[in-house]
Amino acid sequence: MSTALQGLYRPRTLDEATALLAQDPEAKPLSGGATLVAMLNARVIEPAALVSLADIDEIKGISQLPDGRIRIGAFTRHRETATCALDLGSQAVVRHAASQIANATVRNMGTIGGSISFADPGLDYPPALVAAGATIELAGSGGRRSVSAAAFFVDWYLTALEPGELVSAVILPAPDRGAGVYIKHARVAGDYATASVAACLVPDGAMRVAVGACGPTPLRSDEADALLAGDKSDAAIARAGELLVELADPLDDVRGSADYRRRLIPRLLLRAVRSAEAALQERSFS
Ligand SMILES: Cc1cc2nc3c(=O)[nH]c(=O)nc-3n(C[C@H](O)[C@H](O)[C@H](O)COP(=O)(O)OP(=O)(O)OC[C@H]3O[C@@H](n4cnc5c(N)ncnc54)[C@H](O)[C@@H]3O)c2cc1C
Repeated sequence: MSTALQGLYRPRTLDEATALLAQDPEAKPLSGGATLVAMLNARVIEPAALVSLADIDEIKGISQLPDGRIRIGAFTRHRETATCALDLGSQAVVRHAASQIANATVRNMGTIGGSISFADPGLDYPPALVAAGATIELAGSGGRRSVSAAAFFVDWYLTALEPGELVSAVILPAPDRGAGVYIKHARVAGDYATASVAACLVPDGAMRVAVGACGPTPLRSDEADALLAGDKSDAAIARAGELLVELADPLDDVRGSADYRRRLIPRLLLRAVRSAEAALQERSFS
């Protein structure tokens, strides 16, 4: 039977944290607090208990697993991801996205786990993680499981997290010899994206692209990727852009109208493909 918690809890292990959340499903996990504290201040939410993840070492930092994949612990601040010195190949799209989040203050505070759990459609990580083919590790009192980034983002502000579950890590595929870029269009520097495109390019020419802020979840099209793998002419990019626009379901909001967002997609895609090609070429000279 669940017992209501009150106050601030500071577990030191993931198991302790998930046990607390199982005890009281109304308790809220607290990571960097960049969004949660603003919501508390605005009284949008008023949880009786917070479970801080700040003392759990096993979900901090970036490391390379024995099989070559990259593990980013959920409590890794955006600044650390943005300055990661590992050779990430095309997964560098995630580092590039992290470097464009808000401003230095927010990057020093926010974490990757808190960001993707909130799942605001204007966030920078979701399209980058989907393009990178990342996997999200989840932990609950009943055990651990993994879902693809594409399956993790379910709808506007809705993820695959079950009540009481936490994001424990983001896993990137083992780095290849490719290049990854994230192109963001925002009203002003430091704002959330009006629209964005993440692109991963590998030396054989294969591409994976994903669009952010133009629907409830990142947009992906196998057909667009296949087209770009064989042809990176302006005409092919325009056609791939059309395919992605067909999938779009953008909001009309203060950051831009739905029509404006649709128009941005092919333009940002062109910039993303050309930037990825340039980054790959630079890599081949280094
Ligand atoms: C002024 C401002 C500007 C911003 N601009 C941008 C931007 O340009 N681009 C961008 O991408 N982001 C932006 N953000 C969002 C920011 O980058 C953080 O990602 C975001 O605030 C959440 O991260 P956090 O670690 O602070 O999470 P918190 O604020 O601590 O938590 C956010 C939510 O996730 C839940 N939660 C936290 N950790 C976990 C976990 N491990 N598992 C499950 N649930 C969890 C919390 O209960 C809460 O509901 C901005 C935020 C602010 C305040």
